[in-house]
Amino acid sequence: MPNAGDSVGRTIMITADLETAIDRLRDLIEAARRIVPFTGAGISTESGIPDFRSPGGLWTKNKPIPFDDYMASADARTEAWRRRFVIDETFARAKPGRGHRALTSLYRAGKVPALITQNIDNLHQTSGFSPQDVVELHGNTTYALCMDCAQRHELPGIRETFEESGHPPDCACGGIIKTATVSFGQAMPAAAMQRAQDLANDCDLFLAVGSSLVVWPAAGIPLLAKRNGAVLVIINREPTEFDELADLVIRNDIGDALGPFIAP
Ligand code: NAD
Ligand code: ZN
Repeated sequence: MPNAGDSVGRTIMITADLETAIDRLRDLIEAARRIVPFTGAGISTESGIPDFRSPGGLWTKNKPIPFDDYMASADARTEAWRRRFVIDETFARAKPGRGHRALTSLYRAGKVPALITQNIDNLHQTSGFSPQDVVELHGNTTYALCMDCAQRHELPGIRETFEESGHPPDCACGGIIKTATVSFGQAMPAAAMQRAQDLANDCDLFLAVGSSLVVWPAAGIPLLAKRNGAVLVIINREPTEFDELADLVIRNDIGDALGPFIAP
């Protein structure tokens, strides 16, 4: 079966050629039947949420607390929640950027069955994706779960207890409550990984947006799509691990590259 890349060929576009790159991307999007976006922290920097690598970024200031430490130590849990509430305003203030809105436009046009994200900020849902069409590989930090009974807990209630007592509450079942993110040392969500693989196996255009593609096993998903014959487009302002394999690399700002695809 011919794929959308046959008529376009392999091209690496750089900043100076942004207009040409956008034209190429438009051709690929028009030719594609099933587009699967895969997003990383870079799509949310325009929304005010720092990515992993930016100097002074929220994630670089503190050594991450591994899952086993969180479960074993009340002090570790208190520290984890202290940090979470420090960045709470940043998450609460964040609005979807041009990248989020462009992907939502493609979704509403019926071209995108679902989206895969490494992000934990809930901004794809805020921008209009149905929650069941967002495959979260690293979970979601805007709510919490009991590690025993899987009951969902909202952050404002946890924060109230934390500020009153200096400690996070436990679940009514006695279980430990944790943000619904995947911590270092915690198992990847099996159902989400399977669904991401299925999406990668069944698309003709795969858009990797704002990911350095160094965090495994998530980074294996674009590779899978490429191996299964999808056209691979990478949009990231810095080089990534897989630029050599891509059919089109737009090494530019995500908002500038995807802004033209926002439906009026
Ligand atoms: P990363 O920080 O490793 O890579 C982000 C990439 O985006 C970088 O290469 C950077 O150059 C690029 N970038 C940043 N802003 C850009 C812009 N405006 N235009 C174009 N490119 C831009 O992110 P990652 O690959 O997602 O891995 C970090 C991990 O940390 C993720 O798995 C995620 O779970 C977590 N994280 C999540 C968030 C979030 O939810 N918003 C933020 C930080 C970290
Ligand atoms: Zn519970």
